[in-house]
Amino acid sequence: MTKYLVVGAGLFGATFAREAALRGHQVHVIEKLDHIAGHIYTKEIEGIQVHEYGAHIFHTSNERVWQYVQQFATFNRYTNAPIANYQGEIYNLPFNMNTFHEMWGVVTPDEARQKIEEQRRVLNGKQPENLEEQAISLIGTDIYEKLIKGYTEKQWGRKATELPPFIIRRLPVRYIYDNNYFNDKYQGIPIGGYTQIVAKMLDVPGITVEINTDFYDKRDEYLRDYDRIIFTGMIDQFFDYQLGTLGYRGLRFETQILNVDNYQGNAVVNYTDAQTPFTRIIEHKHFEFGKGNHGKTVITHEYPQTWHQGDEPYYPINDMTNNTLYKRYHELATQKAPNVVFGGRLGQYRYYNMDQVIAAALQLVDREFAED
Ligand code: UDP
Repeated sequence: MTKYLVVGAGLFGATFAREAALRGHQVHVIEKLDHIAGHIYTKEIEGIQVHEYGAHIFHTSNERVWQYVQQFATFNRYTNAPIANYQGEIYNLPFNMNTFHEMWGVVTPDEARQKIEEQRRVLNGKQPENLEEQAISLIGTDIYEKLIKGYTEKQWGRKATELPPFIIRRLPVRYIYDNNYFNDKYQGIPIGGYTQIVAKMLDVPGITVEINTDFYDKRDEYLRDYDRIIFTGMIDQFFDYQLGTLGYRGLRFETQILNVDNYQGNAVVNYTDAQTPFTRIIEHKHFEFGKGNHGKTVITHEYPQTWHQGDEPYYPINDMTNNTLYKRYHELATQKAPNVVFGGRLGQYRYYNMDQVIAAALQLVDREFAED
């Protein structure tokens, strides 16, 4: 029997904790926030599950992960289909025939392809090296200017020419009339919210959980008292930033209860111009098909923020400089902290989706307990 300390009660930590406890190990979970579930935490307000740290839509093509999460919740048939509002003009997302029709009046896929082909000529056949070039190469200059540039530069706090191309490749480009934001085989929102998923994961004999508990308050004791530590916080902080600081993007959420039944007609509306200071407004009840108290709705404005040490980190900024630094921290971890495993968005410094987090935690379980 191994004594594990799991630092962070988010999806990575909870998945690992559960699987370790089910295999007879002793697991103590500590969480700095005043609740479990990390950034997938949802809370009921006015009968509506509110995503307190930004919208989370579960989607995956990984059979193992999809089967795995079914143990903890029933998923509804929600399909993400955000709307873009560019200075009052409304466009469908992701980039598909509806968007192309709204932008140019084109009707057939051939007409759309021709339009994009014309616009991408500004690249002169150059291989895209940054987000701007990647976007223009995929969908041309008009869509780039109206739906991508402003949103991206607000979201990341830097020029699209200074961002890696992979970020925009998260979004599908489709020559069919289909507003589904994701290409994955499975998609939905857990009925009853996300917090219950993590609560059920942690509800196994052998797991103890302590919230409002900061690893750094008793770091030496923890390192001494546990056989293995699964650490899901920031890897650079764990090593006292000795090799330098990794970059993160912060967020601020402004949540309001409104006395109307339906505020914006969609769960997610992106404001894609550069002037509007927020990136999107979430109307939570639409994730659950209008559930909630009559005449009430809950909306959240999402403001990207410069991240400072001590702020809640949301997105790793995976440019070359940061990725190289992360690799050096990873090597340092292998040499200096053989009994600590770093996992999740912060521990692995990756722009993970929820299913990728679970997949990574299950892979760790496979490695960790290969001989059991
Ligand atoms: N993006 C954009 N316009 C939009 C939505 C997304 O330009 O209306 C770009 C932006 O650079 C963003 C990236 O696509 O950072 C990935 O978007 P996604 O919705 O996957 O981001 P998340 O929901 O993880 O914040």
